[in-house]
Amino acid sequence: MLKIGCHLSSAKGYLAMGKEAVRIGANTFQFFTRNPRGGRAKPLDEADVAVFRAFAQERGLLPILAHAPYTLNACAADEGLRTFARETMADDLARLEHIPGSFYNFHPGSHVRQGMETGVARIAEHLNAILRPEQSTTVLLETMAGKGSEVGGSFAELCAILDRVHLPEKLGVCLDTCHVHDAGYDICGDLDGVLEEFDRVVGLARLRAVHLNDSKNLRGSRKDRHEKLGFGTIGLEALARVVNHPALRGLPFYLETPNDLDGYAQEIACVKGLAGVE
Ligand code: FE
Ligand code: FE
Ligand code: ZN
Repeated sequence: MLKIGCHLSSAKGYLAMGKEAVRIGANTFQFFTRNPRGGRAKPLDEADVAVFRAFAQERGLLPILAHAPYTLNACAADEGLRTFARETMADDLARLEHIPGSFYNFHPGSHVRQGMETGVARIAEHLNAILRPEQSTTVLLETMAGKGSEVGGSFAELCAILDRVHLPEKLGVCLDTCHVHDAGYDICGDLDGVLEEFDRVVGLARLRAVHLNDSKNLRGSRKDRHEKLGFGTIGLEALARVVNHPALRGLPFYLETPNDLDGYAQEIACVKGLAGVE
């Protein structure tokens, strides 16, 4: 079965997102746990969560993917910023246990002149501080475009983080098609080769979700600007190969393209068409 959804606004709560997802033909969704630029989370509405859980179970929307604020930097040079990232993510993970079995995706961080080695070490240290043996959430490292001093623009960097984490069974990877393309991986010309390399370096068993985006920029541009499916430099043919690749079968796909809800409904229908369902 094809698991397809998109990024939704969490402003109106969980049940509202669940209903919105169903309305646009999705069977999963992604959302920001709080303002994407960071800051305080709204108090958890337990009644909303309880109703949502029942609704989501009935409609087959689970698991859902929570996205951490993208301004957090787990490998910042400044200790205060690292503490903020740790406390924010620990709080997100505690709240997510209300929806058991979810995914929590985050951008590994930017090392900002400390060097890749230090960046990797700090991110692993951050994960070792927040992962708990009893948690039901799987934390996902997102593949990055390698913009500036971003960590995670290469599969080897993700592997280096995974290797240092004490509870690797709580960790996985989310592959963003725009990001890996912008990082230089040839998903248009040689998807098989890219996935073989991912398997060799990280392991396909670690791949738990896909962000399905087209890109505004050329391969290797290290830019990270998402485009609507079929309107960018990746193109619909290559994206169709992603959706239908046997190594990715069963993974949830999330659109993070510049769209309003109607646009997302159309893209979801488009992806179903590419996959030959419904
Ligand atoms: Fe992201
Ligand atoms: Fe993404
Ligand atoms: Zn992006």
